[in-house]
Amino acid sequence: MSFDAIQGQTAAIGTLTRILRSGQVHHALRFEGPDGVGKEMAALAFARALVCTSGDPLGCGQCSACERAAKFHDGPPAVPMHPDVVLVERGLYPPEILGRSRQELKDISVDQVRKVILERAPYPPHEGRARVFIVRRAEELSISAANAMLKALEEPGQGTYFVLLTARPARLLDTIRSRTFRIRFGPLPDAVLLDLLKRQGVEEQAAIDAIALASGSASLARALVDPEASKQRHAFVDAALRAIGADDYTASIELAEGKNVDKKQLRENLEALAARLARAARADALRQGPRARSLAVRYQIVLGSIREIDRNASPALLVENMMLRLRAVTG
Ligand SMILES: [Zn+2]
Repeated sequence: MSFDAIQGQTAAIGTLTRILRSGQVHHALRFEGPDGVGKEMAALAFARALVCTSGDPLGCGQCSACERAAKFHDGPPAVPMHPDVVLVERGLYPPEILGRSRQELKDISVDQVRKVILERAPYPPHEGRARVFIVRRAEELSISAANAMLKALEEPGQGTYFVLLTARPARLLDTIRSRTFRIRFGPLPDAVLLDLLKRQGVEEQAAIDAIALASGSASLARALVDPEASKQRHAFVDAALRAIGADDYTASIELAEGKNVDKKQLRENLEALAARLARAARADALRQGPRARSLAVRYQIVLGSIREIDRNASPALLVENMMLRLRAVTG
C-alpha cells in the first residue's frame, strides 16, 4: 500500500508526503471525502511510513514493518498484521474481545474505544517506532466513545498517531473536529475510474455506464459493475417503469413491498432508476419528443426520494410515496 498506488488525489497525497518528509507530523489527522476514493489506502500508506524501520520517511515498502502494516489477518477481526497499526470500526471486533454481550450495531461503542485505544495508549508502541490508530467511519463514534477518545487526542503518548476517516464530517463532534487536522479527498475523476475498472477486466461500455452513477467513488463503481447487483437493479427499474404506466396501483404496492429493506440496495435501485429516466429525458429532448418534460419531472422526483433515504425510517413507505408522485405526473 504505497502512496504511488493512490490515483486522483494529488493534493491530499502531496500534503501527506510533505508532512512526512518534514518530520513534523500532526498526531491527529482527519481524512474527509466520499466513500471509495482512497482515504483508507492513504491512511494505511501513512501508517506504513510511520512504522517503517528503514528510515525512509515515506516507508521503504521492503522492510518487515512496511510489509505487515498493510497486510491483514483473515480475522475476525480482520486487522493489519503489524501490532502498531490499529483499526477501529463499528462491529470490527467480536463482542467478547470488547467485553460486551452484543455486537455493535449502530455505533462504535465506548467499550471499543476503551479496549482498543485507551488500554494501549499509555504504553510505547510494540515495535518502538510509532503506533497509528485508524478509525473507519469516525462519524459512527457514539458520543461517549468520542468523548473517551478526546483525551487520547489531546495528550497522545510519544509516537502515537490517529487518522479519522469520514465521508460525513458534519456528524463528528466539534471537539473531535477541532483537535484533528483535516486532509480533503475529492471524488475520483472519471478517467481514473475508467482506468481502474478496465484494469479489472470490465469492458468499456459497462465501465462507462457504472461510472455515470458512481459519483467519483471507486467502490461504488465496482459495485455497479457487479453483474448480480446490476441484474437486480435492472429488474427494479423495469418493474418501476411498468408500475408507473400501469392502470392501477397494484404493481406500485408490490414494488414498495419488494426487496428494498436494505437502504444501501434501495439507494442503488433508485440511482439506477434516476439514471434511466435522465437518459430517456435527454434522448426525448434531442428528438424534440413529447415526453422530455414529464421524464425530467419524474427524474427530479426520484432524486428527491434518494435524498430522503437516510431520513426515512421505512423504505416501503418511501417507495410507495415516490410511486404515487411518479404516477401523478402526466404525459
Ligand atoms: Zn519499511
